[in-house]
Amino acid sequence: MNLPNLEKARTRNKGKTIINKNDYIIPEEVKKIGKGKTYHILTYGCQMNVHDSENIKAILEDMQYKFEESIDKADVIVLNTCAIRENAHNKVMGNLGRIKHLKESRPDIITIFCGCMAQEESITEELKEKYKWVDIVMGTHNIHKLPYYFKELINDNKQKIEVFSIEGEVYEGIPVKRDSKYKAWVNIMYGCDKFCTYCIVPYTRGKQRSRMPEDIIKEVQELVKDNYQEVTLLGQNVNAYGKDLDINYTMSNLLEDVSKTGIKRIRFVTSHPWDFTDEMIETIKKYDNIMPYIHLPIQSGSDNILKKMNRRYTIKEYTTLFNKIKKAIPNVSISTDIIVGFPNETDEDFQKTLDIVNKLKFDLAYTFIYSPRIGTPASKIKDSIDMKTKKKRLAKLNELINKYAYENNLKYQNKITEVLIEAESEKKGKYMGYTDTMKLVNVKCTKKYLGKIVKVKINDIKTWSMDGVIADD
Ligand code: SAM
Ligand code: SF4
Repeated sequence: MNLPNLEKARTRNKGKTIINKNDYIIPEEVKKIGKGKTYHILTYGCQMNVHDSENIKAILEDMQYKFEESIDKADVIVLNTCAIRENAHNKVMGNLGRIKHLKESRPDIITIFCGCMAQEESITEELKEKYKWVDIVMGTHNIHKLPYYFKELINDNKQKIEVFSIEGEVYEGIPVKRDSKYKAWVNIMYGCDKFCTYCIVPYTRGKQRSRMPEDIIKEVQELVKDNYQEVTLLGQNVNAYGKDLDINYTMSNLLEDVSKTGIKRIRFVTSHPWDFTDEMIETIKKYDNIMPYIHLPIQSGSDNILKKMNRRYTIKEYTTLFNKIKKAIPNVSISTDIIVGFPNETDEDFQKTLDIVNKLKFDLAYTFIYSPRIGTPASKIKDSIDMKTKKKRLAKLNELINKYAYENNLKYQNKITEVLIEAESEKKGKYMGYTDTMKLVNVKCTKKYLGKIVKVKINDIKTWSMDGVIADD
């Protein structure tokens, strides 16, 4: 049993990133363990987790399990968890109760707990003491070892807990079963070294490790061959890509090389304002297949709070970068993340957040109430602001965010824009997709447009989406 340790995770290994290419192996004993059996997977949190689930699905299918829509019928149940805020945590704990009932009625079900919560020592201790019926607990760095845990489980039928705290490794060659046939997530790096004081990610996801450029390019080339239209390059702080590799190769170089693969659309998340270079702006501007959409989290409008968050930029610097991007890239849309209620955030601090939103008029913003995470520096600050005030601030901020989201969308009314049609919409008779600028559009069309980038005429505007019809018809 190998438990995580937040203190140890803080001690960063300064060595170079090690690339492991041969660590994914399926032991003979479990090659057919899933024959005639099924799995179900519940995924919480960000795109990294969604993509990890695509890896876990492929590993299970390599052992011959098949996907089952209903959790109640599945033989293997995976909970891929998120630790970023307390509500994500609470949802997972609620679901554990439900899975326990299933396990009581069918004790041969195999249950797996993984993702960021598994990296928190308080959680793994709890799983070890109170949830002994959970069969496998694995962290975010050892997904490739899942077949071994199955092998050990069939040998001794005892709970397996393995979570690594210190790592500097990237594992290549882990299979992936993509959720979409048209757009794909491609990890370009793992972990984060920024240590924003409120954030658990540098502990749960570990040290920044970039993949080698040639491995990323090869993956995108294969996606092009398989007719994928869009890739999203994933990392907690993609602009810092390559800094740990010592090969003098930057995010700007990577964007350029991915662009040359000929994939129709390239997106990338998330950009930290600190590492956003002029070269990156030039590259995005230069290549038509790099989409004019940037997610640029600001977090707060107050320099005082930004400093306490350890964000490493001032509002003046953020604004300069924002304006530079807007000026250089025609039609660019910019979204952001904002936290309200950071410990001791004053009315004046919050007013500055409203002021900057009024000034920059973001296309979209993901807004959160600060949630203390055990082990982070901010969680140790004594907070004088009550939850009622924080909720009021969030509501006020959201009103403003909605106003600008709608106003930004209005520019599209009656205009023709390109949309990648990716799935049936919840709205009857419609299919959904996104513009190059990441605006959600529900398009009146038929199945034949699925997977195609088509010209769409926008005929109705809403706050979070738009409606349209095919313009070529
Ligand atoms: N790496 C990205 C960045 O630097 O912006 C984002 C990572 S995080 C998965 C997504 C967002 O969650 C953050 O931008 C932040 O706004 C929010 N977040 C992170 N920790 C939080 C916390 N403790 N309470 C509330 N929101 C939090
Ligand atoms: Fe968390 Fe900051 Fe790293 Fe983003 S940059 S993952 S907010 S520590």
